[in-house]
Amino acid sequence: MKNKKLLMVLGPTEIEDDILSLGAEPQVYMRTPDYSETLKKIFRNLQYIFQTENPVVFFAASGTGAMEAAVTNVLSKDDTILYINGGSFGERWGKICQLHGIKTIELKVPFGDSVNPSDVKTILEQNSNIKAVFATLDETSSGALTDIKSIGEIIKKYDNTIFVVDAVSGLIVEPIQTDDWGIDVVISSSQKAMAIPPGLGFMSISKKAIEFAQKANLKTFYFNIFDYIANWKRNQTPFTPPVSLLNQLDLRLDKIKTEGLENYRQRYSHITQLIRDGLKNLGFKVFAKQPANCVTGVLCENYDASKIVRIMREKYNVEIAPSGGELKTKFFRVGNFGAIGEKEVEIFLQAMAKTLEELNR
Ligand code: PMP
Repeated sequence: MKNKKLLMVLGPTEIEDDILSLGAEPQVYMRTPDYSETLKKIFRNLQYIFQTENPVVFFAASGTGAMEAAVTNVLSKDDTILYINGGSFGERWGKICQLHGIKTIELKVPFGDSVNPSDVKTILEQNSNIKAVFATLDETSSGALTDIKSIGEIIKKYDNTIFVVDAVSGLIVEPIQTDDWGIDVVISSSQKAMAIPPGLGFMSISKKAIEFAQKANLKTFYFNIFDYIANWKRNQTPFTPPVSLLNQLDLRLDKIKTEGLENYRQRYSHITQLIRDGLKNLGFKVFAKQPANCVTGVLCENYDASKIVRIMREKYNVEIAPSGGELKTKFFRVGNFGAIGEKEVEIFLQAMAKTLEELNR
């Protein structure tokens, strides 16, 4: 393969050959009883991954599409919502809501910190009109984990408020009990821990959120959740689905089910730990106070982070994730979603050691 890079970014990921090669298989027609059986299995397995009895549907979209689907289905213009902003993905909830004419209250969290759930409680007590609280399980821009369980406990007491969680990078790699923790909408996507190519956005929706959707006046044609749920009930999709991706998803979900969600997560945690130990030996510190699994954000005190990213890519064929804006020279992130094992960590750490050697010269 020409100039293959080792992907240790935050998606897309390294993918095992058996799943990858399914993408090159002949297409199948989806409106058949056989394909409905495949979809039935996919839908059931998604409920297992999301730990919910409620529908989990998918869109031919990336994670941001699923975020917009969540907003446009459950809210009305001029509603008021609270969003937790600890980085660019938390901030995105605010931007999407504002675009759709929703009034937003921002709970700003310093970069690298995790929100204190009692701050959510205080804001809810002070603002009886909050229709929804938006949070991010793993804030991929900083690598910080959010205590979704505690926030869910708080929101459960409010009949007129729903809880919406972005689990794009946190699903599977963090524990998330959608129903038990009182999360009404969870969104995610295919190119992180699901470790298949980008292009599928997922959304689970509770009965309470469906009631909100029945009253909501924002409009969306492609993402209309009632179309997806009606088709989900008959093991179908409203529009043409990305069949190759679904075949890859089917195998991935089978694999997770066979290994068990907890074992799958433990395996990822082990690799995350190896990366962090190795980076520590090289003199780096993990930045987040409560770090997310599989997302390691590093603040560079002695090096230009953008040079590290460039040398790793150009000389050693290892892609790690840069940061944008004012963090460009200060912060890099390493991801270990997908087929990253001990061998890949070794390659990554050796490349990093050589990169630092070069920068020290
Ligand atoms: N939310 C989080 C937490 C993410 O990590 C990402 C992708 N990095 C997104 C949302 C956006 O997903 P996408 O790029 O698939 O639209």
